[in-house]
Amino acid sequence: MNVRIHRGTQQIGGTCIEIENDGERIAIDYGLPLDGNAADKSLVPSIDKESLIGVVISHPHIDHYGLLHYLPGDIPVAMGAAGKNLIRTAVPFTGQALPPLSGPNLEHMQPIQLGSFRITPYLMDHSAFDAYSLLIEANGKRIFYSGDFRAHGRKSSLFEKLIQNPPENVDALLMEGSSLSRLDDEVTFPTEQELENQFMSSFNTTYGLVMVHASTQNIDRIVSIYRACKRTGRTLLIDLYAAAILESTGNHSIPQSSWPGMALYVPECQRRLIKRNGWFDLLERHSKNRIYLNKISKAPSQYVALFRPLLTADMEKADCLCGAGFVYSQWEGYLKESAYCQIAAWLKKHDIPLTRIHTSGHASPVDLKRFSSAISPKSLVPIHSFAPEKYEALFSNVLYKNDAEWWRV
Ligand SMILES: [Zn+2]
Ligand SMILES: [Zn+2]
Repeated sequence: MNVRIHRGTQQIGGTCIEIENDGERIAIDYGLPLDGNAADKSLVPSIDKESLIGVVISHPHIDHYGLLHYLPGDIPVAMGAAGKNLIRTAVPFTGQALPPLSGPNLEHMQPIQLGSFRITPYLMDHSAFDAYSLLIEANGKRIFYSGDFRAHGRKSSLFEKLIQNPPENVDALLMEGSSLSRLDDEVTFPTEQELENQFMSSFNTTYGLVMVHASTQNIDRIVSIYRACKRTGRTLLIDLYAAAILESTGNHSIPQSSWPGMALYVPECQRRLIKRNGWFDLLERHSKNRIYLNKISKAPSQYVALFRPLLTADMEKADCLCGAGFVYSQWEGYLKESAYCQIAAWLKKHDIPLTRIHTSGHASPVDLKRFSSAISPKSLVPIHSFAPEKYEALFSNVLYKNDAEWWRV
């Protein structure tokens, strides 16, 4: 196999790997760079489309699939079924272009064949739902791509199982190293279970409404928040977008809008969106526990709202903010972006304290070491890291590559 990483040897985001064998080629991930604009066609990796027989997407994060809308529609796209469903559900709310998604569904340990390539997905623990590592085999050689993963989320047992029974004889391991620029080598991240306890104490010590700003698509986090709500007797308020995303997982152990302890609150500007788009069936389907502002404003302390900026006007209007608390539960970096200034100003105006409860979606250096030594590849190529230079000191058999550089496996 001939391999080249189009983007990712020195950066997080915009990942794309091209693999060629006997004149056939596949692409693994087709991501938008973190600072890239999805309308910028010049970001699309230059891969010969005539011989491109398929694209495999490891997980539904924009930095791994965000340029797919430029892919010709007749090229199969393999991805987890829940991941595809999540993207299809999110698109009408976010206004992104709908990418082509027809092609095989990835399932844990169920190999698929794309031309001469045999691809075996390994379901992994990550902040995105339905995330896979991929074993790619052709011509007697084996490449293992870690995708994005961690070992401290709610699916950590998947990680443990993989390192107990790792794929053997791996010629090249392409391993992410997001945490290497963010964390000292011996420090580890808190687990989702620990976060649940932190949420609990925050909910217990806040006099009024708690607003938690987390990514709706970080399903592990929504579960942590929901469980903390249950344990503190608060109801979790979600909007129609969150209700639809939770439903799109197709997983009956993930909290749903109809569950006890969940309530649908539709912000005013979302009501206009529903009307404009005629989403009445969707609204109806999630309205079992629908709640209105007058009820929330009578006892804000009984609720935790999954915060989105479109909620601010409603909460202000209904006078729900006395004694309120705000929990920031996303990557620190977004806090420094200019868009966050408005939220910071709004919190200040209402004298609402901001606390931080978060854990990474990526493996700590300690877990990266466990992962790479279990797989014990002939060569380990850094990908998805802002600190590739650190690999050499931490892992064995490191092979450095530049973006767009071909090499043979
Ligand atoms: Zn990523
Ligand atoms: Zn990711």
